[in-house]
Amino acid sequence: MSSALLSYEEAAQTIADHAAALRQMQPAVERVPLAQAAGRVLARPIVADRDQPPFARSTRDGFACRASEASAHRPLAIAGAAKAGDAPGGRLPPDAAWEIMTGAPVPEGADAVMMVEHVETGGGVGPGMVRLPPPRRLVAGENVVARGAQGRSGDELLGSGVRIQAGQIALAASCGYAQLDVFVRPRVAILSTGDEIVPVEAEPGPGQIRNSNGAMLAALVAAAGGEPLLLPQVADTDAALDAAIAQARAADLIVFTGGVSAGKFDLVEPALARAGARFHFTGVRIQPGKPTVLAEIPPAPVSSPVRGQSAAKHCMGLPGNPVSSAVTFLLFAAPLLAALSGSRETVPRFAMAQLAGEVKTKPGLTRFLPAVCSFGAKGELPRVSLVSWQGSGDLTALARSNCYLVVPETATVLETGTSVRILLS
Ligand code: AMP
Ligand code: MG
Repeated sequence: MSSALLSYEEAAQTIADHAAALRQMQPAVERVPLAQAAGRVLARPIVADRDQPPFARSTRDGFACRASEASAHRPLAIAGAAKAGDAPGGRLPPDAAWEIMTGAPVPEGADAVMMVEHVETGGGVGPGMVRLPPPRRLVAGENVVARGAQGRSGDELLGSGVRIQAGQIALAASCGYAQLDVFVRPRVAILSTGDEIVPVEAEPGPGQIRNSNGAMLAALVAAAGGEPLLLPQVADTDAALDAAIAQARAADLIVFTGGVSAGKFDLVEPALARAGARFHFTGVRIQPGKPTVLAEIPPAPVSSPVRGQSAAKHCMGLPGNPVSSAVTFLLFAAPLLAALSGSRETVPRFAMAQLAGEVKTKPGLTRFLPAVCSFGAKGELPRVSLVSWQGSGDLTALARSNCYLVVPETATVLETGTSVRILLS
């Protein structure tokens, strides 16, 4: 086991390299109802079954017309009316306009739509007439989306590897997909280690604490596109850890929490070594999360064959302090999970924000500190401030944060008002 600490950038690059290799392996595909596809990753492209939009569509309530005629400010005869749902109407006669509603087909010959708010009708213009008063003018194409402007019949509108959210579901629905082919979610075994840990339902004895990391990591796994397998907590003994690893081998990724620091009962690394692990890193110059481990263990022995067990399996050892576990999951486990899930998203996600108050720090570690960012600031960068915390065991601070302030390894002070990076949670 190498004990050299990597910088955050080196560890992130190592993870990115492993993620790139994992991305070469196509996950299995399953079909799910469209309504259950949110959060999943598209496995086959979404193809337009007709032009999008299928007809020249008005984006306004008003009058379809020829822009040149309307801009001459002559009264135009109202030749017909179309509401959304009407079949495309006939050809627009010369010097005429066609009353039209948002979403309705624009008649052939018309090239623009005058907004109802901008025209004169009736009294001043004459019965059955409409006019665009000066100085307002209209250009061809105004308030009309041309047939096929968003995609032609047969076009690939979305490729595989896209994470499906509301917008992708809407597009799929518009193309007639009642079901979608998505990648099977990678299964992530979560092993919570520690003699002091008791189940959430239990009444902790003196010195005991409830297993909060298990539930937290399950939520992080689900949010990152994986299927969490929350295994029973593991005692700090070699035998318990060996048995837990044997059980967890059925998963696509194994995440340990606790037991990777330098303490007497931090037994995860030796257990991984007994399972034949290759270690890629065993510590990173970050706070929180310094003792984080990335390793790969070989496939399960032939005596206990499990589906899809031909390749080595990645194991992440996350420090047990809750904030450490959360941060290191986002930084290192989530990118592996994204790759295993077939997603092409960039993970982790960083953004820029303006620092609301000065932060003093000691150089030597890249820090990811629980922070609150207000994203509502008008016309400015989002504003971020630190949450006061009692160190990486502070679950209250974690729960009151919505991001992490990134403090570069060399920084000694970050001044109020400067642009800083945040890690989005
Ligand atoms: P460790 O990384 O095992 O040295 O644990 C560091 C700290 O995190 C200790 O205070 C542990 O009690 C705490 N901890 C470890 N595992 C969990 C867990 N599953 N849930 C909550 N706290 C934990
Ligand atoms: Mg422990």
